[in-house]
Amino acid sequence: MLDHYPHFRDWESYVGVSMFWCITCDGYESRGKKIVVAGHTNDAASEATQMTRLSDDITLITNSHVHEIDVRFTARLAAAGIPVLHDKIHTAEGSDGQLETLETTGGLQLPVEALFVIQGATPQVDLARMLGVQLAGNGFVLVDTEQKTSVDGVYAAGDLTQLHSHQVSAAVHEGAQAASAANYFLYPEELKDD
Ligand SMILES: Cc1cc2nc3c(=O)[nH]c(=O)nc-3n(C[C@H](O)[C@H](O)[C@H](O)COP(=O)(O)OP(=O)(O)OC[C@H]3O[C@@H](n4cnc5c(N)ncnc54)[C@H](O)[C@@H]3O)c2cc1C
Repeated sequence: MLDHYPHFRDWESYVGVSMFWCITCDGYESRGKKIVVAGHTNDAASEATQMTRLSDDITLITNSHVHEIDVRFTARLAAAGIPVLHDKIHTAEGSDGQLETLETTGGLQLPVEALFVIQGATPQVDLARMLGVQLAGNGFVLVDTEQKTSVDGVYAAGDLTQLHSHQVSAAVHEGAQAASAANYFLYPEELKDD
């Protein structure tokens, strides 16, 4: 997967330490912190309001020239007391992966301890395309319940098979399914029962 993080100076050093994309993975450890959610969509607004279970100090920055949060989600943000900044992250200060301040193109200094970036992700499916594997409309690899793709003998597992549940446990489960199914595929015909 290619997660779409903001590319400010040294951004990679913050990934997984204080810059995240997944509330399920990193939300709990961010409880009580100064949280900034970056994103310009209803998904970002939704994640920001879910964060209110974990912290009282949440700000949403659209980090885009477009602002697509609709009236319903804008109302939810307002009801939750979450300020919305229509501004972009210009640069960040911090050390050893820990973010301390975000500077916006509008000139604001935002204190931050955890930055959740909800700007989407793109599955990397060049190999699948080369093999002629069918993709879903959203770009992910189509598989059945045994992780079979549309091409005989080609199996796919993990983040690239679905938009949601990007978790180690899901990837390991699908990997095990794919390995079993691929092993069976390789049996000579006389050993197969179908
Ligand atoms: C910051 C962060 C925090 C996370 N926290 C959690 C967490 O707390 N709990 C949890 O369950 N999940 C977490 N996840 C999600 C979890 O890491 C993924 O869901 C899981 O790793 C998916 O496994 P995968 O095998 O599909 O992909 P990956 O683990 O990404 O493995 C794909 C591998 O393929 C390699 N590769 C890519 N292209 C090619 C190519 N062309 N040729 C050869 N090799 C290639 C890559 O280098 C990589 O090693 C987190 C993810 C991130 C980014």
